[in-house]
Amino acid sequence: MNKNEDCSGFERRLSGLAIGPGIAVGPVFGTQEAPAEITRSRIAAADIEAEGARLDAAVAASRKQLGKLRARLAILPEDSQAEIAPLLDAYVQMLGPSRLMRGARRRIAESLRSAEQAVMDESEAIAAALIAASPDDVDAGGRRADEVREIARRLVRNLTRAPFRSFAGLPPGAVLVAEWLTPADAALLDPARIAAVATEEGGLDGHTAIMLRALGIPTVLGVMGLTAHMEPGRLVVVDGTAGVVVLEPSAATLAQARRGVIAFARRRQRWGRLRRLPAVTLCGTEVALQANMELPAELPLVAQSGAHGVGLLRSEFLFMNRDDLPDEQAQTEIYTTIVEAMEGDPVTIRVLDWGGEKEIEALAAAGVGASAEDANPALGLRGIRMLLRHPDLLRTQFSAILRAAAAGPVRVMLPMVTNMSEVREARALYEHTAQTLRGKGVRLPQALPPLGIMVEVPAAALNADGLAQVADFFAIGSNDLTMYTLAADRADTEAVDIYNSTHPAVLRLVAMTVAAGARHGIDVSLCGEMAANARLMPLLLGLGLRNFSMNATAVPRVKQAVRTVRLESCQAFAAEVLQEVEPEGVAARIQAYHEPKAHA
Ligand code: PEP
Ligand code: MG
Repeated sequence: MNKNEDCSGFERRLSGLAIGPGIAVGPVFGTQEAPAEITRSRIAAADIEAEGARLDAAVAASRKQLGKLRARLAILPEDSQAEIAPLLDAYVQMLGPSRLMRGARRRIAESLRSAEQAVMDESEAIAAALIAASPDDVDAGGRRADEVREIARRLVRNLTRAPFRSFAGLPPGAVLVAEWLTPADAALLDPARIAAVATEEGGLDGHTAIMLRALGIPTVLGVMGLTAHMEPGRLVVVDGTAGVVVLEPSAATLAQARRGVIAFARRRQRWGRLRRLPAVTLCGTEVALQANMELPAELPLVAQSGAHGVGLLRSEFLFMNRDDLPDEQAQTEIYTTIVEAMEGDPVTIRVLDWGGEKEIEALAAAGVGASAEDANPALGLRGIRMLLRHPDLLRTQFSAILRAAAAGPVRVMLPMVTNMSEVREARALYEHTAQTLRGKGVRLPQALPPLGIMVEVPAAALNADGLAQVADFFAIGSNDLTMYTLAADRADTEAVDIYNSTHPAVLRLVAMTVAAGARHGIDVSLCGEMAANARLMPLLLGLGLRNFSMNATAVPRVKQAVRTVRLESCQAFAAEVLQEVEPEGVAARIQAYHEPKAHA
């Protein structure tokens, strides 16, 4: 039996990563793809070569995706492997010197078709021929035709970067099950309609996970073999707290899950009562708890959470799922809405952090920055690196933020900073933008909103003393800091055993950043996912942090943790943890802190 599977009766229990707390019961909904938009106009003869190169890139991307799926097959039960492996092999073969590829290239060269249209037309021609060639075995002909259409669909999606999913037909209360979801897909989900999400891929702190947590949707990611067993419409239980998905649940499991749903709702209600209480330790130290936000749709959740402002607005989500880039006015309106909604509490707006796993079609279409298919997108033109190459984008964003600052206190934050020169360059542009606005008669305060940086590249933490001379504040991005320190992708299911924000190396970098901030008298906050983990609060307070930003649903939980500790014991605990040299040692100390009796 698959190690990820536990069958009791007809029930199948699959385990994955516990991403979004809460339990849900609902019918499975497999995601549908939006039909890719294919332009029917002809290409110019001069573009034939470029079109061929686009097709080559799509073939390479498709091969990579299929290779990844193939590698993951080993974890499935043998009968599922036997079912899926030949299919994947057939797909890969079709990407080679196949009739599909030859025909598509011919259509580009001879009929001047775009690569996507050439692939679609050729695949339809082959599918029709396959069906016609098997009049005695319609099923076999249809199956083979479907295989050709499937690989063509993958190619076209890679060519057009079409949004992969359509959630239009999603019935209320359904459980969304998919091979994977992109961060942009997750941003389209309506938490009021969807009961839970479960996917095969995804890592603990990838942006898909972050988005789903922010929406408060019970979620389990990284569930191997999930889609092979999925049957649309069948009831499924998703336990996002334990990281378990139960297919074909027994009557007893269903009854227990339904009790769990009610118990979780009650716990939320209890946490809700904490909203008006201050985040203060037993010894009287005040701690600032703020919310991370991606979209204005999260504002009601933020308001209910009791967060004091927004510690991180990931503005890149405002650029996703749209055909054009939001202009200065559109951005000003969005930022102003958020600043006004915070009623005087500060909002830290981070300028576009594009790159890595976050894809923004409108930017890609405008030819800006890197793409996920580039050699190593996480190490390339991401965040401030990309913005400094496209100063118009940054200028527009600075302008919009400065205009929104009229509605309340704002801070501006730069992502992925590595060098002091990046901050200097961005600051020069920031000040110049302010001057231009003043020139246009826009009233701005004498002292501009603070301009700070994310500390999420190990070099920034190691050189925090230098960066503190040019930045007004630090926000530690523990997600990327962990990823880059441990060289383990935050969104990769395969790397979850290595990716660990409490690794001693990461904790030392956090401690160094806090110490540098204190030496230079600048504010240091932490806005990575570890801030949302209430169990880590004693350690993080002990390391000297007093300001945290997290997904809104986590605020009450974390507040409860803050209200039950004394700083002195947190400091002693953190000092002990910093002595550890292995992640297991840190984990054991955290466990012992919370369950001292078990370790006595
Ligand atoms: C981080 O890296 O920890 C962070 C908060 O930024 P993001 O998750 O958006 O990369
Ligand atoms: Mg980051």
